[in-house]
Amino acid sequence: MKKHTLFFIFFSIAIFINLSTKAQEKYKTFTADDSLQFYKNTQFHQAVKLKKTTFVYGAKPKNIILFIGDGMGTDHVFAAYTANKGVLNIMNMPFVGFSKTQAANNYITDSAAGGTAIACGQKTKNGAIGVDAKGNTIKNICEYAKEKQLSTGLISTSAITHATPASFIAHQLSRRMYEDIAADFLQINIDLFIGGGLKFFDKRTDKRVLTNELKEKGYQIAFSTADMMKITKTPMAVLLDSGHLDRVSEGIVFLSKAVKKSTQLLSKNKKGFFLMVEGSQIDWGAHQNNTSYIIEELLDMDKAVGGALKFAEKNKETLVVVTSDHETGGMAINDGNIQTGEVYGRYTSSRHTATMVPVFAYGPGAELFSGVYENTELFQKIILLLNLK
Ligand code: MG
Ligand code: MG
Ligand code: ZN
Repeated sequence: MKKHTLFFIFFSIAIFINLSTKAQEKYKTFTADDSLQFYKNTQFHQAVKLKKTTFVYGAKPKNIILFIGDGMGTDHVFAAYTANKGVLNIMNMPFVGFSKTQAANNYITDSAAGGTAIACGQKTKNGAIGVDAKGNTIKNICEYAKEKQLSTGLISTSAITHATPASFIAHQLSRRMYEDIAADFLQINIDLFIGGGLKFFDKRTDKRVLTNELKEKGYQIAFSTADMMKITKTPMAVLLDSGHLDRVSEGIVFLSKAVKKSTQLLSKNKKGFFLMVEGSQIDWGAHQNNTSYIIEELLDMDKAVGGALKFAEKNKETLVVVTSDHETGGMAINDGNIQTGEVYGRYTSSRHTATMVPVFAYGPGAELFSGVYENTELFQKIILLLNLK
């Protein structure tokens, strides 16, 4: 075969893979539309007023609520703060650190390697879910927590089978194996999960109907936020959309309710709980270089963080951590106005970048999250604080 024929075949395959990826993830589609860079916020929320609670240094929490703003860098946070007229729950959290996000095989991580580093404590290859760089299964926080009889929960504004939540429950060589990831939800007895992705449970190539299997395992199932609110015991599975959920400005707003419901249900376990909450679409807004999309999603997550902080303040044994898996967009704020809630974001990329991402913490053990460290240390800190090893 001639060299250029080989090249042509390779090129066609590359185009095909690229197109099928795009088709699957069209929410990330970038259009060079400069008007998307400017945003003036019109819906403001107050920050939760936290009492000056003094936590004892070296104290350990019983519960941890971990928020992951996918793609959320420092500029995304400050953009949301500016848009909300200088008020943000996340920025009221007293301990701040930075997480280095590099993947095992790449300077720039994807959400699979980024999620796996946080969930399982090891750097892996981009695309890998809950397996190390050689493809071996590595145990995640939820599995460690289950062994010690703690309760566990996952909440996401994307499909629950998408890379970030998947890293906390599944073990698959590729993030694209959505049906296999869904099946992994039946492998560990997770106490609750809330997100999209119903089609990967019920419209499967192997004809299994996983929601029926979940029912047989004793799960309460809901397909709407209203029905979720009626559920009074775990285990609970809430699948709010066939695929990904709509963005906050176009669809149902459920994150704060989901966090409230989850803390109510999970805190019944006196041994403690681990809850991961993902603001998935901050990343997608940033892929689009769309300032309003980023800010609306981040403010929605910030409201849920406020609810978690309130719970933690009252509960006194709960640590709240807010971080990210990587930065997306190479965002910078080139102008803005805290009085009017206007933000002018500029972007150096439509993809992920290499920079370190912020970590905010409140509650017993929060001081451990200060400093600059690898993303895998988030796992180590959580394991240590919950006495999981
Ligand atoms: Mg990500
Ligand atoms: Mg994600
Ligand atoms: Zn992304």
